[in-house]
Amino acid sequence: MTDTTQNADDAFTTNIYYGEDADAAYIEDKTVAVLGYGSQGHAHALNLHDSGVDVVVGLREDSSSWAQAEDDGLRVTTPDTATAEADIVMMLVPDTVQPAVFEAIEPGLEAGNTVMFAHGFNIHYNQISVPENVDVTMAAPKGPGHIVRRDYENGGGTPALIAVYQDYTGEAKDEALAYAQAIGGTRAGVVETTFREEVESDLFGEQAVLCGGVTALVKHGFETLVDNGYAPEMAYFECLNELKLIVDLMYEDGLGGMWYSVSDTAEYGGLTRGDEIVDETVRENMEEVLEEVQDGTFAREWINENQAGRPAYTQLKRHDEEHEIEEIGAPLRDLFEWEEEETEPAEVPADD
Ligand code: NAD
Ligand code: MG
Repeated sequence: MTDTTQNADDAFTTNIYYGEDADAAYIEDKTVAVLGYGSQGHAHALNLHDSGVDVVVGLREDSSSWAQAEDDGLRVTTPDTATAEADIVMMLVPDTVQPAVFEAIEPGLEAGNTVMFAHGFNIHYNQISVPENVDVTMAAPKGPGHIVRRDYENGGGTPALIAVYQDYTGEAKDEALAYAQAIGGTRAGVVETTFREEVESDLFGEQAVLCGGVTALVKHGFETLVDNGYAPEMAYFECLNELKLIVDLMYEDGLGGMWYSVSDTAEYGGLTRGDEIVDETVRENMEEVLEEVQDGTFAREWINENQAGRPAYTQLKRHDEEHEIEEIGAPLRDLFEWEEEETEPAEVPADD
């Protein structure tokens, strides 16, 4: 371990691990069942396989990914059979179907086995409870599967998280770190966290900033310009299209790098008006959203929504698709088609 960063109030100490901290002996003689062959599943399975780990992919018999996984040189069977064979089971089916899949595979778990996750929702919110003689850990790359695979193939790796929820064997953390190494994570850096921290920060981030906050900000900006008589095309470019340029700058060099690159006028305007737009009331709203994540209100709502067949989700999705910014956006994006081809993700196995 070569880096230690500390939270301001010292409540958490974050360890970052690299290749020299991991010991492949904790995984090299084991069989890993990777359940699911979607975004994360194909990347984990192929990286583990290329790292010399014995991998078996678990899929439904009618899965359209079955042939793909076999074409990729992997052994494929059903989730229950794969689990019965394996020492480590990595759950990479969608979060909403994991509880049902777990029920089917539970009889195949033996004392000292490990159940692993790439997201802690079902463990943290008690939708899956794993027998106490089985380890429960996490190895979660901080990127979509096609990047996890591409980074590994290029000799690098995608940063990843590890966490231990249940440590029956006393080797849970060493094994999770060896797994993270085998998928390429330690080449970039592996951050140790907890299931609670991963789940709550992930849900908060996607709701408040990444998915919810940003789309709301974009729509409000677009509507403000259009309602005041500006051309929707102009509003689209200013409030949506150019966001990518700003985010790229922040991603590469932080907020400072972005301020440095924009004009002084943009910098002064942003510095003086930003907090007027996203003001204290927005901060209070964020506290409320975080509370609903922490006390399980959001999780309960989403679980019930799924059990009811997703009525609200379906309606909200449709409503969003009908927004003027979407109608105006499609033909405008076609103008940029030449640019998109370069950034198209590498081939990802079809979902089914
Ligand atoms: P995905 O939707 O891309 O793939 C799911 C796979 O599961 C598919 O191969 C599908 O065929 C299979 N599947 C669906 N239902 C099944 C069933 N009943 N039985 C067996 N197989 C079934 O999912 P994903 O995005 O790779 O997510 C997997 C896990 O990884 C989730 O826990 C998710 O939160 C986590 N995660 C995803 C990302 C990401 O960027 N996609 C990043 C980090 C963590
Ligand atoms: Mg996420």
